[in-house]
Amino acid sequence: MWHCAGMSGVSPIVTRFAPSPNGPLHLGHAYSAIVAHDLAKESGGAFLLRIEDIDGPRSKPEFADAFRRDLEWLGLEWDEVPAQSSRLIQYEQAANDLRTQGLLYPCSCTRKELAALPDRIAEDGTRYPGQCHHAFEARKATGADGDLAWRINIDAARAAVGALTWEDAHAGETTADPRAFGDVVIVRKDLPASYHLAVTHDDAQDGVTLVTRGMDLFASTHIHRVLQALLNLPVPRWYHHPLILDDRGEKLAKRKGSPALGERRKSGEDGLAIADRLRATQI
Ligand code: GLU
Repeated sequence: MWHCAGMSGVSPIVTRFAPSPNGPLHLGHAYSAIVAHDLAKESGGAFLLRIEDIDGPRSKPEFADAFRRDLEWLGLEWDEVPAQSSRLIQYEQAANDLRTQGLLYPCSCTRKELAALPDRIAEDGTRYPGQCHHAFEARKATGADGDLAWRINIDAARAAVGALTWEDAHAGETTADPRAFGDVVIVRKDLPASYHLAVTHDDAQDGVTLVTRGMDLFASTHIHRVLQALLNLPVPRWYHHPLILDDRGEKLAKRKGSPALGERRKSGEDGLAIADRLRATQI
């Protein structure tokens, strides 16, 4: 039984595991999936699998197939909801809603320009100082600007929604402050959505009532909470769980070559025993 504050005796909850098929799963993913699975099943609710496959050529169906085999090997049962690649029109509608509210502006900054920004604040993000917003305001561009990303004017968004809070099972009630990443990308150059827009849209559409994911995504939730308010979406609760660390105390990661679940599965290890060990892990 997981100890997740405020979760005992609640009505059936819907959780999800939302991996990106751009590499194999490792033990950290297994832990995340098991937490989500058990919390849902213990409440009599549903555990959903959503394949987040909008990462261009990095997304590969063979990884998604392996994910399903890995989850089965761990003894988990799930309902699979549509993959993100089948929801692009809905993301476009959500982005248009934000555009109509006057909250998005096009950004032509290249990766190189972004990498040169001085204010790097997190492994996965940079505080964007808004230079394209100033350029946009200056030329009053309208409509789709072709090959451009679209960013949200986060100060205008905050002003539009007012003060917001969100509830995390560990951190408790938290005031939404989405400014850490600056004006985040909402529509990518190559896709009608960024991670932030897609995940916020999908969790609402899939009826997720408890978003379970690693602590590394805690800061993103401030942005998601604001997007929910702007798009008039239901507000779930969150459980950002601690991360499983490697022997050096570092976060496991696909790119660091953390041992893949698939390898362990193929070598004949017992997935059920691994799942039980993870359940007993104190982190
Ligand atoms: N697709 C994301 C990942 O694999 C997780 C998204 C989420 O749980 O919000 O890192």
